[in-house]
Amino acid sequence: MKPVAVVHYHEISLKRGNRPLFLRRLGENLVRATAGCGVRGVRRLPGRLVLDLADTVDAETLHARIGTVFGIANFAIGVAVPPTLDAVKTATLALLEGRAFESFQIRARRTFKVFPMTSETVNRVLGTLVLERFPTRVDLTHAALTVHVELLPRDALVYVDRLPGPGGLPVGVSGRVVALLSGGIDSPVAACRMQKRGCEVEFVHFHSVPYLADTSQQKARALVGELVRRQFTARLWLVPFGEIQREVVLAAPAPLRIVVYRRLMARIAEALAHRVGALALVTGESLGQVASQTLENIGRVTEVVSLPILRPLIGTDKEEIVREARAIGTYEISIEPDQDCCTLFVPSHPETRASVAQIARAESRLDVAALVDAGLRGAVSEAFVFPEGALSMIV
Ligand code: ATP
Ligand code: MG
Repeated sequence: MKPVAVVHYHEISLKRGNRPLFLRRLGENLVRATAGCGVRGVRRLPGRLVLDLADTVDAETLHARIGTVFGIANFAIGVAVPPTLDAVKTATLALLEGRAFESFQIRARRTFKVFPMTSETVNRVLGTLVLERFPTRVDLTHAALTVHVELLPRDALVYVDRLPGPGGLPVGVSGRVVALLSGGIDSPVAACRMQKRGCEVEFVHFHSVPYLADTSQQKARALVGELVRRQFTARLWLVPFGEIQREVVLAAPAPLRIVVYRRLMARIAEALAHRVGALALVTGESLGQVASQTLENIGRVTEVVSLPILRPLIGTDKEEIVREARAIGTYEISIEPDQDCCTLFVPSHPETRASVAQIARAESRLDVAALVDAGLRGAVSEAFVFPEGALSMIV
């Protein structure tokens, strides 16, 4: 009887062509996520992945680690035994030993029909066995406990307490994106949604040090420190934006500055994206949430870059975003007070409908290419690794 974790993915998300990549990345990501948790290897069995575990593991940590790996539909810690009825009976009793449960059901599944008994027979035999040994009853609709038995050609997998996974696609299968990460609530949630769709995220934060305190950088670091848990390695680019903003102040009337800032951020982020092989930008914008997030102003930003700008929160209400931020662990970091670069030299009532002509006039007084270049030259990157802990380097 060998301890294992059984991991299921949604078959439906597996189009034929990307199946090998999906499974390879899911396996690799599981190995990385569970480093130091007693996982000895990952086996690809028909329709599921099996992690072979050391004899003693910290189940709580293992649950937490596996539970953040995108691409997983559900998972459980259990045992693998030879595919015989006797072995499955012994495993079932061992797993239930010492537990009290007022009702239960057995759910056996047989792949390839090699196993000589039908699933119904296995359910009946194991159900009878459990009833003999435990003061409990069968309940096929609201069982307090479910014993899962998966009968594969070479193994039987037996487990209880199956947990839901986070769904999505394994990080890495969809390619790389650059997320514009402010210290706010929205952008980390947007980045995490793209991780969930299989993107590896490269983070970029614009700061106004020394015009403002470095609190926003500290928050960006803390946020990447949290988000790296779902992609295992990450890079944060810190781009000095204060000098650029000073130039914008000289060229653009106050109500237009925020849109001009955003256009410069988008151009710099796009250049970084090309440098790191990313195929899209990601922002935390939600339509109409603030003045800079009207369709007109979003249009003014979109038109300066040719890479797609993904806005996964565009149709999401603030309350939903907050709920998601709490769930992924970024909310408490985001609500720390900071000094955001976009508040520098910006009026409380910015233009909500910046026109192409207005913006063109303001930017005609700027050397846009030189400003983008200055931002790129000043950019510094830091590397993050999970679970080994963060390390820092300057390139
Ligand atoms: P957030 O909660 O993500 O800060 P927000 O509701 O405050 O969003 P804005 O401040 O208008 O909205 O920013 C819109 C988006 O622009 C952010 O979600 C983020 O993607 C990007 N952004 C804004 N400021 C910065 C910054 N200093 N560095 C990097 N990206 C930024
Ligand atoms: Mg913000």
